[in-house]
Amino acid sequence: MWIDTHAHLDAPELSRHPDGVAALRLRAAEKGVDRCVIPAVQAAHFDTVRLLAHQLGDVYALGIHPLYVPEAREEDLQRLDDALTRHRSDPRLVAVGEIGLDFFVPALCTPDLRERQQHFYRAQLRLARRHDLPVILHVRRSADLLLKHLREVPVQGGIAHAFNGSEQQARAFIDRGFCLGFGGAVTFEAARQLRRLATELPLEALVLETDSPDIPPQWLYRTAAERAAGAPQGLNTPAELPRIGAVLAGLRGLSPAALAEATTANARRVLALSPRAAA
Ligand code: ZN
Repeated sequence: MWIDTHAHLDAPELSRHPDGVAALRLRAAEKGVDRCVIPAVQAAHFDTVRLLAHQLGDVYALGIHPLYVPEAREEDLQRLDDALTRHRSDPRLVAVGEIGLDFFVPALCTPDLRERQQHFYRAQLRLARRHDLPVILHVRRSADLLLKHLREVPVQGGIAHAFNGSEQQARAFIDRGFCLGFGGAVTFEAARQLRRLATELPLEALVLETDSPDIPPQWLYRTAAERAAGAPQGLNTPAELPRIGAVLAGLRGLSPAALAEATTANARRVLALSPRAAA
């Protein structure tokens, strides 16, 4: 049994898929994906991700993603606080996320937006503290600054999703109670540094994710030239998780079953998930 700790099932590619999102989710379940964590990216989707999680038997997180900070309003933080209060006894609400900092996208790197991203990130760390929830972090060229704010506004831990930093940064997150999320990026042979990290870090620190519909694994990826020639980009869904897990298991010299068991236990621990039957 696997847990996909990061799947944007509310994204239009999935939620408006002609087969229906429930059918996509069923395909993943048939391959052994027991749970998906559906993180919100903007206040307008808080209800959508909650309803999807209930409909699909999954769990969700509420937060404002750094890519949505430019259009977010100050009162969205109040909406987040209100939603976290209103759904405090919902066992499917497991984290504040997706929050963080993105210094890869040039448009987000103006002095104003760097400042604004940090304002939203810190405010959401405070909400995670107040509501006693872990956080799901978006880390892109921002690990050191994310860690600096975490030292100033400590939270109980969570997941550094799509992690692609240094070993030292990885250890700093682990020391603060975080697991690191690995997904489609580790399926590329050229990702040597990431593969080494995913192989050498302690097993207790790893969780798996597809980041559906983003970050397709190698077998779904089509280059720009291939797409121009008519090859469709394969759709990345939670059904890819077991195969991604099998690649990582191979790199670590483990059986897929052993990796599934360990990463599932890690996800349950770090997000305080109840076993499925009880939820
Ligand atoms: Zn995400």
